[in-house]
Amino acid sequence: MHEMALCESLLQLIEAEAQQHGFARVTTVYLEIGELAGVELAALKFCFDVVTKKTVAHNSKLRIVVVPGASWCMPCATQVAVKQRHQPCPHCGSHQLQVVAGDEMKIKELEVV
Ligand SMILES: [Zn+2]
Repeated sequence: MHEMALCESLLQLIEAEAQQHGFARVTTVYLEIGELAGVELAALKFCFDVVTKKTVAHNSKLRIVVVPGASWCMPCATQVAVKQRHQPCPHCGSHQLQVVAGDEMKIKELEVV
C-alpha cells in the first residue's frame, strides 16, 4: 500500500515545518492531491491517522482538495481534461498525451496551535 509511504513522507514534511516554525501541534492539514496521482483517498486518510499517532499531527484533520487532471494533446494541440493517467484524448482518441496537471500531491496549508 503506497499510501502508507506517502503518509510517512507527509509526516516528515509536517515535522520539519513544526521544527522550523516552532509550533507544538497541527490541527488541520490541507492537502492537494491530483486526480492523476493514483492515490486512494480513503486509504490515505486511514494511513494518515495511523502514521501521525503520538506526533505533532496527532488527531489532526486531513482536508483533501482534489486537483483536476489535465493533459496536453499533441494532435489537437490543446489541453484536455483527463480523469485517468492512461485515458485517451476525449476529442480525437489519441494516446499522445502529456500530463500537465493533477499528478502530484502537496501540502497546501497547515493549521497549527
Ligand atoms: Zn486530441
